Amino acid sequence: MFDDPILEVEGLCTYYGTSQALFDAALTAPRTGAVAILGLNGAGKTTLLKSIIGELRPARGRVTFDRTDVTGTPTHRRIRQGIAYVPQEHAVFGKLSVRENLLVGGITNRDKSGIDQVVEMFPKLGERMSQRAGTLSGGERKMLAIGRALLSGPKLLLLDEPTEGVWVGVIEEIAERLEEMTKRISVVIVEQHVELALRIASHAFVMDRGQVVMQGTSDQLRDDPQFMRYLTP
Ligand code: ATP
Repeated sequence: MFDDPILEVEGLCTYYGTSQALFDAALTAPRTGAVAILGLNGAGKTTLLKSIIGELRPARGRVTFDRTDVTGTPTHRRIRQGIAYVPQEHAVFGKLSVRENLLVGGITNRDKSGIDQVVEMFPKLGERMSQRAGTLSGGERKMLAIGRALLSGPKLLLLDEPTEGVWVGVIEEIAERLEEMTKRISVVIVEQHVELALRIASHAFVMDRGQVVMQGTSDQLRDDPQFMRYLTP
């Protein structure tokens, strides 16, 4: 699908105890740009992201990042190698201030200008630097989580539902920042807003009951009647 992909996932089978959640899941992502993972609740999208970052260990299959097999690599080393992950929930430290959250994110990156760049990207955060993250709005919390993830200087950003719980007026702002980001790095996005996901991503992978059942360019999928069937409960 992509020449020299930054991420290549092959044949992943991941279990929760004895219950299998991923069945031979496969996905690739380009060095710059975005791909989307779409599917109904429980399809396995979060499980796939967690298997890519290493929070879950697949029983079978392979994850290759930046031409290196990272299937057995611990999460903290994957982060150092250039993968960042913004989980769906609990992505910020509620009791810490915005500034403290960003400082934690910058630990693996000595470049002090990073926080300034995050504030430039999300000016709303600049106005709230001393405020506790737990008191931020849903959208500001997502901005903080994304900004913090960027501070590790990732080549690949995994985003789980970046617009969930975000007021509709702020969704567009986040979407535009993500689009800008895809010019420089690779983004894998799990997103319930299908149209938004297809706008940000050039390609999408559709999951159903732990399997990738469709893939293609966003334009191809939009026009495929089978596509909406998989996304309709
Ligand atoms: P959602 O949009 O609801 O987050 P998803 O596509 O991300 O859905 P997953 O969260 O990856 O789906 O769940 C895939 C399957 O694994 C589901 O059947 C779910 O019930 C199961 N599952 C998820 N987390 C666990 C867990 N901690 N223990 C056991 N089963 C789990």
